[in-house]
Order: sequence, then C-alpha cells, then structure tokens
Amino acid sequence: MTASIAPTNTYAARRERLAQQLLAATGPVALKKKSSNLFRDRDRTSKPRLDVRDFNHVLEVDPRAGWADAEGMTPYANLVLATLACGAMPAVVPQLKTITLGGAVAGVGLEATSFRHGLVHHGVLEMDILAGDGKVYLCTPHNEHQDLFFGFANSYGTLGYALRVRTMTIPVKKFVRLEHAHFQDSSACFRGLQVLCDSAADFVDGVCSARTNTI
Ligand SMILES: Cc1cc2nc3c(=O)[nH]c(=O)nc-3n(C[C@H](O)[C@H](O)[C@H](O)COP(=O)(O)OP(=O)(O)OC[C@H]3O[C@@H](n4cnc5c(N)ncnc54)[C@H](O)[C@@H]3O)c2cc1C
Repeated sequence: MTASIAPTNTYAARRERLAQQLLAATGPVALKKKSSNLFRDRDRTSKPRLDVRDFNHVLEVDPRAGWADAEGMTPYANLVLATLACGAMPAVVPQLKTITLGGAVAGVGLEATSFRHGLVHHGVLEMDILAGDGKVYLCTPHNEHQDLFFGFANSYGTLGYALRVRTMTIPVKKFVRLEHAHFQDSSACFRGLQVLCDSAADFVDGVCSARTNTI
C-alpha cells in the first residue's frame, strides 16, 4: 500500500521546508507537536519551535517484505490502522494511541510483544534524521551514518529528529485468544511470566496491584 499525497506536499517537499526552517532558527529549538507523552514536564520556555505537526503520514506498507514506512510524528493509532489494513502490525506497539513512531524510537518504547521482538528501536530498519546542521541523514545499520542510527534510541531529540522511520511489521491473525493468569505473590508471578514468555503466546502483558504498598 502506498499513500497518495499532493506533489507540493510530498514528504520530500515538507522535509526540505523543515530543514530550511531549522537553518533559519537561531539557538536551540524545540518541537511543535500535536501531543506529548513525556513522563517529565515539557520545557515551556519560549524556544523557537519546529512545526512538525504534518509529519504524520504513513507512506508505504509492505507486509510481504515486513516493513512500514511512516513519518516520524505518525501516532501509533494511525500506523496500526494502516498496517492492519494490509494484514500486519508494527512488531512493537506502545499502549497509548498518541505515542508517535519517532517519539517511541527516541524514548525507547516497548510493549506486550517486546519479550519476543525487543524494544521499538530494535525493529527499526532505517531512518531519515534531521540533525542540528540542517541536513537530513538517511541512517541504516550498515551505511556511513550507522553511529547515528545506533545512538538514536533514548536520545530524546538531542541528536536530531526522526522525520521518517521504516519499521518492521509482523503478520496478524483475525482474532486474539485472551487468557488471564492470577498470581498471589511476586515470586509466583515471575515464574508464571517465564512460562508464558517461553510459550507460543504472541503478547504478554501484566498489571500489579496490592492492598498495601508492598507486594
Ligand atoms: C502515561 C504514559 C504512558 C506511557 N505508556 C507507554 C507505553 O505503553 N509504551 C511505551 O513504550 N511507552 C510509554 N510511555 C512512554 C512514551 O513512549 C515515551 O515518553 C515517548 O518518548 C513518547 O513519545 P511521543 O511521541 O509522545 O513524544 P513526545 O512526548 O512529544 O516527546 C518525547 C521526547 O522524544 C523527543 N521526540 C519526539 N519525537 C521525536 C522524533 N521524531 N525524533 C526525535 N526525538 C523525538 C522529544 O523531543 C522529547 O524529548 C508512556 C508515557 C506516559 C506519560
């Protein structure tokens, strides 16, 4: 599946305009986004803001090759809808719908398939990263920008902004069979988790609760 976008508004055209916007800025910049899921307070100082709100398109899904190409600020809700339409899902899907693909790579996303597929960035195949020099670098595990590729996870925007991410997808089935397992203490829970992770389960997730603060 390939998305159709007006020629003046293609990813390449918007990427070029954004790079120009960054070059025109003086001093540190911050992102102007529609949503945020930071665990810490956002910096609300009056830094110039790079408007990345329209970098939210799913560009292409190739379920046979096992990848999806999407712009960095694409919320997972949209990415998942596009991949499901092709019979696939991103290998790791963070729980909150508004977490974006680039934010999850820069912020080390994980979720219920991570016991099998690792963290969000482990499924990344290539990225276009807008760096502080106003250039966009195509980074892969094997090209001359591999240091940026491997250093990008957990960088929280300090090394640059991911404008496009090609991420691994896995095939989906039509239904998911759900099983609940209850444990009364943490030792039993961790033993149970081990058994589940060694099983054929596709997703493993858990919630801890207690009447007191100690489990
Ligand atoms: C209530 C809550 C629940 C959460 N649940 C989950 C969960 O289920 N699974 C999970 O994995 N994580 C979860 N997180 C953590 C979340 O994935 C990270 O905080 C992630 O970085 C947020 O991504 P975002 O797209 O909302 O980015 P933002 O909150 O906008 O930005 C987060 C940081 O990443 C940087 N950044 C954002 N986009 C880019 C980009 N394209 N390129 C480079 N840097 C960028 C920003 O500058 C900022 O420093 C949760 C967080 C909260 C607050």
